[in-house]
Amino acid sequence: MREERPTDVLVVGGGIIGLSIAWRARQAGLSVTVLERDVAGGATSRVAAGMLAPVAEVEFGESGRRQLELGLRGASMWPAFAAELETATGVSVGLLQTGTLVLAHDEDEARELERQLEVRQSLGLTVRRLRPSAAREREPALAPAVRLALEAPDDHSVDPRMVCAALMRACVSAGVDVRARAPVARVELAGGECARATGVTLEHGEHVPAEQVVLAAGPWSGGIEGMPEGAGVPVRPVKGQTVRLRDPAGPGLLQRVVRFHGGYLVPREDGAYVLGATVEERGFELAPTAGGVYELLRDAHELVPGVSELQIEELSVGLRPGTPDNAPAIGRCPVQGLIWATGHYRNGILLAPLTAELVLGVLTGGEADPLLAACSPERFSASAGPPTAPTGPPPSTAGEPSKPAEPATAAKAVP
Ligand SMILES: Cc1cc2nc3c(=O)[nH]c(=O)nc-3n(C[C@H](O)[C@H](O)[C@H](O)COP(=O)(O)OP(=O)(O)OC[C@H]3O[C@@H](n4cnc5c(N)ncnc54)[C@H](O)[C@@H]3O)c2cc1C
Repeated sequence: MREERPTDVLVVGGGIIGLSIAWRARQAGLSVTVLERDVAGGATSRVAAGMLAPVAEVEFGESGRRQLELGLRGASMWPAFAAELETATGVSVGLLQTGTLVLAHDEDEARELERQLEVRQSLGLTVRRLRPSAAREREPALAPAVRLALEAPDDHSVDPRMVCAALMRACVSAGVDVRARAPVARVELAGGECARATGVTLEHGEHVPAEQVVLAAGPWSGGIEGMPEGAGVPVRPVKGQTVRLRDPAGPGLLQRVVRFHGGYLVPREDGAYVLGATVEERGFELAPTAGGVYELLRDAHELVPGVSELQIEELSVGLRPGTPDNAPAIGRCPVQGLIWATGHYRNGILLAPLTAELVLGVLTGGEADPLLAACSPERFSASAGPPTAPTGPPPSTAGEPSKPAEPATAAKAVP
């Protein structure tokens, strides 16, 4: 059993969130260890479509406004983050700055889209109304069934698998100690009531000491033991199924991300497409289902018939880390030296550079960023209990026409 000098920062979880934080912390001169249960970048971040879509993802209500603020700042950071990562590693992250089209496919959806347009315009967001002919001029593969489209020209995409590969390389060459197959069992504390984190213990018993511990274990973050009452964050897994498609003729079927009532299609630069995604409250179950895949393909085919010619490369299933209000938990908790960076739900790719910046500020004791207040893990302290799905119908998403509320266990397709 090895017991070492404490690392400055110990990050639990090597997904896009943990790796982004590790890279930034190391760049700031801190010694950093990442402990990853399996292989870095191999869990939820590997399944994500990679949309950077704060405008298409607008949700109503107070929480929606907070998330819009986070999302817009996150999106604004991506071009520089991508360029820095590519320069540091020589690895492309697949940033495509081609914008997004949100499609309506019948009269009801078109009316709803008009309403969504007004909402976005009232928020000062850049969005254009497109007649079907204008939408098809931009994307000739769209079916005549398209009744109306909104264009969000600033909602772009990256390839999260490429981002994680680049982050891994950046971390390792900067001197981060990334340990694969190092499952953390518990956080270790000292100091009784005024608890302070002193490190973690791995499942096989090894103690890894640290000055500060960052919990970035995605949907599994809530399962790490040792947390005193009031310091936990209730994170639940929200299943999402995707189909990875490839055009044997190469790129060109779609240039932009297209989103529709049943899901979305995200093009990659090499002729691959991600078709997603179901949203299912099924605990940690990871099996792809015939029904989920059928619905995704059916809905995509109605608006982009050429999808039927694409080859299926992969069915992939991921678990979005959701908090009770579906907003992330980033920042300190009552345990000194313990920082949460989880609960990014549908927006962990979009929010990775911003999360890394916010957490770095906390680690280095810089001036508190005002956005941290909206993400405080302590907002759950009073109601800490087992993770649950949000009560009531799912929040209405401006990125897609609304649809009837479904039982919490049903598969429904949104990003
Ligand atoms: C189908 C789907 C589509 C999505 N599309 C988008 C999108 O278009 N845009 C967007 O912004 N977001 C999207 N998301 C959301 C995004 O994928 C997540 O918010 C993001 O990946 C979360 O990153 P993470 O690093 O927190 O989690 P993860 O990538 O899951 O990383 C957590 C890591 O922690 C490790 N771990 C767990 N427990 C332990 C332990 N005890 N000890 C050590 N390590 C541990 C895991 O093995 C894992 O590698 C999508 C998600 C899904 C499922």
